[in-house]
Amino acid sequence: SPLGDLAAGISTCRLCPRLVAWRETVAVEKRASFADQPYWGRPIAGWGSETPRVLIVGLAPAAHGGNRTGRIFTGDRSGDWLFASLHRVGLAAQATSEHAGDGQRLIDARMVATVRCAPPDNKPTTEERDTCAPWIQTEIELVAPYVRAVVALGAYGWDAALRTFKGAGFDVPRPKPRFGHGARAVLTAPDGREVVLLGSYHPSQQNTFTGKLTEQMLDAVLGEAARA
Ligand code: SF4
Repeated sequence: SPLGDLAAGISTCRLCPRLVAWRETVAVEKRASFADQPYWGRPIAGWGSETPRVLIVGLAPAAHGGNRTGRIFTGDRSGDWLFASLHRVGLAAQATSEHAGDGQRLIDARMVATVRCAPPDNKPTTEERDTCAPWIQTEIELVAPYVRAVVALGAYGWDAALRTFKGAGFDVPRPKPRFGHGARAVLTAPDGREVVLLGSYHPSQQNTFTGKLTEQMLDAVLGEAARA
């Protein structure tokens, strides 16, 4: 499929020297701790439905989450939070996401990262973001005809969603809508179809440990997306 071909292309990308070095260094250092599992240590493609109604846009794979498992939001605490909520609102088959062969399945949903390699401190440079942009652009263009709702996890995903849907020919509001938890904006496809963009705080430990993001808050946004 075109998405499968795209995933194959992404998996061998080496365009950002700093991120290639980081993802491979972290992989070597961490591999011993997870010796019983395959260690990915490469760029990650989006995953989930090839005809998703809900698209979830994040920042980048976590060093010991997606970089290890090959699947975004898998194998770390952020993923535990996100999948528990996705399961509660009917978008994921299981409440946990531990490794790529755990039987987890997204239901009518797809997850994509804006930057496809794990960056140090979760902070890609602007140049790295721009170098990686064609991957998310192509992926969103392939799924956009099916999407009814987009959930941006964090301001980085919000900006990426606005930029990328605009690049795919959608009308996006001006001035640029501000990100916040529960923020919403309407993106209009060239054929007039409307797609709702919803903002959610990122389920990082920084947000979930401090109570800035509660389970109820995350369920509210993901539930609205699921109903769209
Ligand atoms: Fe390639 Fe994107 Fe990884 Fe850079 S961040 S090496 S462009 S996949």
